[in-house]
Amino acid sequence: MTREEILQIIEDKNIQFFRLQFVDILGFMKNVAIPKSQIGKALDGDMMFDGSSIDGFVRINESDMYLKPDYSTFTVLPWRNKDGIAAARIICDVYKPDGTPFSGCPRNNLKRVLAEAKELGYTMNVGTEAEFFLFERDEDGLPTTITNDTAGYFSLDPDDMANDCRREIIETLEKMGYEIEASHHEVAEGQHEINFKYADALAAADNTVTFKWVVKSVAAKYGLHATFMPKPIFGINGSGMHTNQSLFNLDGTNAFFDESGPLKLSKTCYSYIAGLLKNARAFAAVTNPLVNSYKRLVPGYEAPVYSAWSASNRSALIRIPASRGMGTRTELRCPDPACNPYLAFAMMLSAGLDGVKNNLTPPPEVKHDIFEMTGAEMAAENITTLPANLKEAIEEFKAAELSKTALGPHIYEKYIVAKEKEWDSFRTCVTDWELEKYLTIY
Ligand code: GLN
Ligand code: MG
Ligand code: MG
Ligand code: MG
Repeated sequence: MTREEILQIIEDKNIQFFRLQFVDILGFMKNVAIPKSQIGKALDGDMMFDGSSIDGFVRINESDMYLKPDYSTFTVLPWRNKDGIAAARIICDVYKPDGTPFSGCPRNNLKRVLAEAKELGYTMNVGTEAEFFLFERDEDGLPTTITNDTAGYFSLDPDDMANDCRREIIETLEKMGYEIEASHHEVAEGQHEINFKYADALAAADNTVTFKWVVKSVAAKYGLHATFMPKPIFGINGSGMHTNQSLFNLDGTNAFFDESGPLKLSKTCYSYIAGLLKNARAFAAVTNPLVNSYKRLVPGYEAPVYSAWSASNRSALIRIPASRGMGTRTELRCPDPACNPYLAFAMMLSAGLDGVKNNLTPPPEVKHDIFEMTGAEMAAENITTLPANLKEAIEEFKAAELSKTALGPHIYEKYIVAKEKEWDSFRTCVTDWELEKYLTIY
């Protein structure tokens, strides 16, 4: 999209409010809203903001930052249209006053890693499957963990409500240019999944953060609370964000497909799988960023626990979906939707490329249910476990050279500070579980 086309749409649709968006290190979408009179300036990349107020961004003395819009991300916000006055947004990269990209901007960082992949002859395509719950709100409008479905006894036509809400989410996404491939109720009560078409990694990260924002915004319109928290309810499935990924050659062919290879997968694909498996313990702190993330990665709820790959078996960390040709891909099943996709894709791509660059070979495919295997059987097949908690994940992340190269020193350091703080706050908190277990018997 060109500057002229954007200005034309702004006139045609009567856009009076314009949001400049960017993402912080933890993956939260930030907004600078500007009135129509400032749009020209914003499109020229001349809008400044104070970076020091953004968590983990910069120190106070270097806080002036510029927002450089990426025209391809311009979109009207269908749910913000009131009385004929519309709103739009554009996603921006954060630049320093000297005109160079700010290394604390996750989007800039992903671009940097994608440029490195390009030098090796590859582009990356990604399709995410972010699952979420729709919960009821209480009389004060605060979110509960009562699923919309089970609350059926109390509310009027609850199923219709969830259906209408999901339908409006899909219609909204379609108006914004998403190609929706499928949507379905997930395994757990109140849990949903909406699949949209894969894209190159940068666009896929943009689409993923925007998707979460749309889901939450439309759900709120229906009086519901949508959450991407990885494991909101003990005892039922959590929400994952399976990440389908493939490398393409610069001529546009799929580098993972090889008609004559085993399972019709190329050597590059096998090496990429090996790289993902090798580095899974290191990237978990990014793909599974919360204390709560590790309550999802336990046996029995379709979430992976062990590092193994399989062409069929859904208990594995990496599954190879059946489609071949252009659709040949690996599905990494550990990420959850709380992750910052810009950082997560940078880590996964670097992990896979570690395998490709070093010509690694993965262990054999695991064909049986890993959860049925004994410790000794697993050891014999070289199967390790994912980190058991955020603390273990942070230690693995810290120790891995890959983390520093994939995220750059600035994000690497800020990320550790943020996550260690989170862990410490959890570690010292007295939880309901403890009170229930100990208060009366001791
Ligand atoms: N909800 C499961 C998870 O936590 C995935 C279920 C599925 O998509 N088959 O990963
Ligand atoms: Mg799915
Ligand atoms: Mg699913
Ligand atoms: Mg899946």
